[in-house]
Amino acid sequence: MRCPYCGAEDTQVLDSRPVEEGFTIRRRRLCSKCDRRFTTYERREIGKMLTVIKKDGRREPYNRDKIIDGLLVATRKRPVSREKIEEIANKVENEILSEGENEVSSKKIGEVVLKHLKDVDAVAYVRFASVYREFKDIDEFTNELKKLQDQEKDGS
Ligand SMILES: [Zn+2]
Repeated sequence: MRCPYCGAEDTQVLDSRPVEEGFTIRRRRLCSKCDRRFTTYERREIGKMLTVIKKDGRREPYNRDKIIDGLLVATRKRPVSREKIEEIANKVENEILSEGENEVSSKKIGEVVLKHLKDVDAVAYVRFASVYREFKDIDEFTNELKKLQDQEKDGS
């Protein structure tokens, strides 16, 4: 972990504590070079704990990037920051993991994403919902959203 002040890589962990129901670890660190202290938030590797059941029945390790991709496409040109998107992904992960199952359907993930997106941006919500309801699979609807937006670009 690199020191945000001087860039040194040699830092010491002073304190570790789980936050957000245990899915994130907060660490206080001390830089060995400049002696400054800083805090990091590290997500646990959820892919190792959670399997996603796809619409066709195949199983694959959970991949946070797929949620992020779907959200980036749905919020394109909307006033939603990358930070906000990460925050939505955290909420989705926390909600799914707090149910204590180690398998989840991609359909369920989409529903949880929608629930949290609703409070953030109405346009992004409608984009996500309209494609999602038809396809019920996070990969398919991310692809479909991309296609729709390419068409918008070509058509104008
Ligand atoms: Zn330093």
